[in-house]
Amino acid sequence: MKQAIVWFRRDFRLQDNLALFHAVEFARKQDAKLIFVFQIDPYFNRGKIELGNQYFFQAVHAFMKGCRSLGISFIIKKGDPVSSFQELFDDYPDITAMFLNEDRIGYGLQRDEKVKEAAEKYGISWYSYQDAHILGPGEVLKGSGTYYEIFSPYYRRWETLPKQPPVKLDLSLLKESAATYDLHQQDPILKVYHSEWRTGEKAAWEQMKNFTDKILYSYHDTRNKVHNESTSKLSPFIKTGAISARTLYFYVRGTELNQDGKNAFLKELAWRDFFQSIFARYPESRIKPVNSKYNAVPWRENREYLKLWQEGRTGYPLIDAAMRQLNQEGWIHNRLRMITASFLTKNFLIDWRHGEHYFSKKLIDYDLASNAGGWQWAASVGTDAVPYYRIFNPVTQSKQLDPDGSYIKTYIPELRNVPITYIHEPWKMDEGDREAYGCPSGREYPKPAVNHHEQRKLAIEMFQTAEGENKGG
Ligand SMILES: Cc1cc2nc3c(=O)[nH]c(=O)nc-3n(C[C@H](O)[C@H](O)[C@H](O)COP(=O)(O)OP(=O)(O)OC[C@H]3O[C@@H](n4cnc5c(N)ncnc54)[C@H](O)[C@@H]3O)c2cc1C
Repeated sequence: MKQAIVWFRRDFRLQDNLALFHAVEFARKQDAKLIFVFQIDPYFNRGKIELGNQYFFQAVHAFMKGCRSLGISFIIKKGDPVSSFQELFDDYPDITAMFLNEDRIGYGLQRDEKVKEAAEKYGISWYSYQDAHILGPGEVLKGSGTYYEIFSPYYRRWETLPKQPPVKLDLSLLKESAATYDLHQQDPILKVYHSEWRTGEKAAWEQMKNFTDKILYSYHDTRNKVHNESTSKLSPFIKTGAISARTLYFYVRGTELNQDGKNAFLKELAWRDFFQSIFARYPESRIKPVNSKYNAVPWRENREYLKLWQEGRTGYPLIDAAMRQLNQEGWIHNRLRMITASFLTKNFLIDWRHGEHYFSKKLIDYDLASNAGGWQWAASVGTDAVPYYRIFNPVTQSKQLDPDGSYIKTYIPELRNVPITYIHEPWKMDEGDREAYGCPSGREYPKPAVNHHEQRKLAIEMFQTAEGENKGG
């Protein structure tokens, strides 16, 4: 009997999963059996398993468990992807086809090309689908057939283009088509690491419904508040594929709520597609500014400052609270990503690539294109980025985004008893205040490592130097 592989990578769901849907169709028509595969590639988990990967492997673990309860088992392969699949092709000579949702950028793209080549040598047909995005790279182009580099016109076009509606999988067909073998493979890397962040399709749907019921109507107004539940917090589910971006798009669009909230949310989903498209156009986006004018920004090397930033000890409470939340939970609000990125690059004058790398390890929703795009935006080196002279003031931002200081107090226990007068600028307290509010000398919250106003001037000079060199060169 014919067999076909379904290779899961970042699409851990049964519903609206294009590769799985088409594989089940294939199995039905060809009377074939499906083999579900997860491949553990050392490229993605070298060294310590950081927060981001912990969440990912936890999500894979939960998905496999759910599949097992339906009688579907997985084959887990480990090591070099090409060798892993060659072994599989040798072990299962009846495999005639392979289904997967494509990766269009980065290492994933190169890996897929190599595995595809190996599959073709075995005479195995390769079926891949653009599944991760509502509209993928190359699907939103200018009339001239070129890529958009500015978000607003991209978005206007994105809005008008037809979109693939979600596909519904018949679970009884799925169960019939899954190959049964006596396998309950496990790998020690796949386990529950944390219980705070939920994983899986059911939890993703609950989160989506909760968000649309309670938050979406005011999302356009409140999404910039860092406390309370102001955004969907769906990004970890989107990252692991527990819910598809298509499902979200159609569900939100179909709700009977005011247009403002819905439009603001759909626009954010379009940003995700936009950054993916930019990365496809500029494949070196992780290491090279898209705006080549800023290739020569003379960033400072300062290991001590980098460490202060990473550990949340810069002396600016909002920055530190955000970095501590990132370290503890692997997620922070979009505004906080913008402000911490701005602080690293324009207050500490440190190269954005250090920050991008740090976020890539810690974020449980880490996405190659959105992260590189977000960092390039905040560091003013990307396309359509914030101008370099618009530099967030960490104190003003703190007062605006966390007016009562409750967010700061959640993550900085040293400041828990500090009143609102000082919470955004604790360095203004005198010795008596510090004693009274429980942060006496010796174990108090640190003083600001740098002066924002001085650093702001230096940052602007740094960018002007790069612009000067660009003109001169
Ligand atoms: C420096 C920096 C790094 C970032 N790194 C990542 C990353 O690694 N992974 C990631 O998913 N997002 C990243 N973002 C974008 C954004 O911060 C997160 O998508 C968002 O905070 C996730 O929270 P949410 O699901 O509650 O968002 P919501 O506001 O509820 O938005 C819904 C969804 O829209 C998408 N989205 C929203 N804003 C953006 C945006 N600016 N760019 C791209 N997609 C967006 C996400 O998929 C998000 O889940 C980064 C932003 C910055 C400034």
